[in-house]
Amino acid sequence: MASADTLCKKLLNVKHTVVKSHDFYNDADGVIHLRINARPDAWHRDDCPFCNRRNLPRYDRQAKNKKVWRGLDFGGILVEIEASTHRVTCPEHGVVTAAVPWAYAQSSFTRDFDLTVAWLATYLPRSVVAGYMRIDWQTVGSCMSRALYDLEPERARRLNGLVNIGIDETSYRKGHKYITVVVNHDTNTVVWVADGHGKSVLEQLQRPHR
Ligand SMILES: [Zn+2]
Repeated sequence: MASADTLCKKLLNVKHTVVKSHDFYNDADGVIHLRINARPDAWHRDDCPFCNRRNLPRYDRQAKNKKVWRGLDFGGILVEIEASTHRVTCPEHGVVTAAVPWAYAQSSFTRDFDLTVAWLATYLPRSVVAGYMRIDWQTVGSCMSRALYDLEPERARRLNGLVNIGIDETSYRKGHKYITVVVNHDTNTVVWVADGHGKSVLEQLQRPHR
């Protein structure tokens, strides 16, 4: 018979993780939460979340903070992982919060959650995904960027070495919706597309894609 810890790990679909305990509680809205207390195993405790370098020197001797990541719901139950975090020193990325095996860097959701949101958002309107996954509208976008960065890390490099670019703003739905397309004229490829038009959209292009 599977132990409760094994069951939690199977439900979360996580590896390199030790489940320490788990408990249920009701929040103010009456929603049941399953809170799973976990930690990375001894071999995955001090890794960089950005480049996955292993066994880096610790910056904090003790655990720094407690953090909660949301996982995929189990029936109507809201699933969460709670763990202590600490920082490590990466030769490339400096002092960063150590990676956890269940989530992408800087995410408050599990990988499966981010990937599920990204997959749903390719087929459904954002408002539907937000309602179904019980997250807000903007969070759908951040889940998608993390999933995309993982599935296609080279995507961010498309913007490297851009010299001759073309920017095209096109409207659709009778001029109500705009889309901005950035083209690399040297390679004849589309390097970036975003909803909207104007300065605020192009400012997004300058932000790091992570
Ligand atoms: Zn790193």
